[in-house]
Amino acid sequence: MKGDIKIGRFFGIDLKLHFSWWLIALLLAWVLATNFFPTFYPELSTKQHWAVAIVSALLLFVSVILHELSHSFVARKKGIHVHSITLFFFGGVADIESENMKPMDEFLMAIAGPLFSFFLAGVFALIFQNTTNSLFINAISFYLFQLNLVLGIFNMVPGYPLDGGRAFRAILHWYYKDLRKATRIASYVGKFFALFLIFSGIVQVITGAFSGIWLILIGFFLHFVAGLSYEQVIFYDVLSRWEVSKFQQKAKSSMMISGNINLKKFIQDNLANKHKLFIVKKGSSPDAIVDLTSLQSIRGADLEKFKISDIAIPLKKLGTLTPDQTAYTAFKKFLATKSHVLVVKKTLDSPKIEGLVFKEQVMNALVRRLKFGVDFPHSKLSGMNPVLTTQLAHQESLKQKKSKKGKTKNKVTKKKVTKKKLNSKKSSSKNSRIKRDTDILGLPKGLPVPKKPKK
Ligand SMILES: [Zn+2]
Repeated sequence: MKGDIKIGRFFGIDLKLHFSWWLIALLLAWVLATNFFPTFYPELSTKQHWAVAIVSALLLFVSVILHELSHSFVARKKGIHVHSITLFFFGGVADIESENMKPMDEFLMAIAGPLFSFFLAGVFALIFQNTTNSLFINAISFYLFQLNLVLGIFNMVPGYPLDGGRAFRAILHWYYKDLRKATRIASYVGKFFALFLIFSGIVQVITGAFSGIWLILIGFFLHFVAGLSYEQVIFYDVLSRWEVSKFQQKAKSSMMISGNINLKKFIQDNLANKHKLFIVKKGSSPDAIVDLTSLQSIRGADLEKFKISDIAIPLKKLGTLTPDQTAYTAFKKFLATKSHVLVVKKTLDSPKIEGLVFKEQVMNALVRRLKFGVDFPHSKLSGMNPVLTTQLAHQESLKQKKSKKGKTKNKVTKKKVTKKKLNSKKSSSKNSRIKRDTDILGLPKGLPVPKKPKK
């Protein structure tokens, strides 16, 4: 995520803070110091209220980390990879490799977090009941008992992507043996719950309780994530059926070129070439790749000054696949490397290139499958290379612009470029990493909080 700060590493898992957390930590401390603690502990001074508020906010932060770590702990026990944990505005997100998970594993992993929150609530309840001599500890444990309880209960709501929703989905998955159906039902419940939160928030705001805004925000967020998570499951469902070898375009000898060729000459010679991509040799072995769409980055420069090797991408920088991996692995590597081509090799460390896989082809196949139910189509590249054509047209238009002629031609090229830019924006908006386990944190005034018991 953008704006993440790494704050440490626990058990091999990166712990990150999203910038929105700071905002909420400050807001929380302020609400606690000026509202919550003065109401329940009027005997403490203002300074003491602030001290208690800050310590409580920090301990809440630790509670959320422990909740996330308990998910991760179970995941690791089941041999599932955990990338990182990020704390943000609404709670925490553990980035866990979630494909191919057995229903039982998913169930245990999902309930581990809320169970630990309930355990923490119990611990703080005990501390609260047994500290009569220190108001300070009494106040902190009172607050943390409530918040951990709320955290546990809220996340056990059976709407996907909340923990309870994941557990519910795992049960449905086990029952129906159909992950897509299970996710659809669980995310419907999630969306319904989200709408309920939004509605309750609106009612609260209308009746003068502005803390309802928090519920509305959480509701919208949940609704959004529920839809997104379902989409990811569908992608997985479709793409994991296809092997990389189906998409692989064989590396042909006609695609092999030398790095010393002049770029302008190369473009002119290859206007009608159906290949978009060429393999640059170093000696007899492949060393880099020339991606014709990368020519856009040197738009306007004098092509004659460039050699092929100047715009080549070293093979080391590209993601590698093996033919037996799934298209879903390819999809994730496209997102991770932000590249639109991946290299296929027999084994990951083999020096020889077997072929190439293009993002466009994988995405086309996915869209056709989802929209029209067509199973694995082969899209043929057209004879004229659109990238090269645009590039040359632009060069031409620059010359004409200089001599104050041909304004219309330039416009046409610009239109093409904007269209392309839009397309690339569309694909990059899907670049977010696949996230799972979104935990939502209820704020003290957002949800009904139990009353302080009388002693
Ligand atoms: Zn959780």
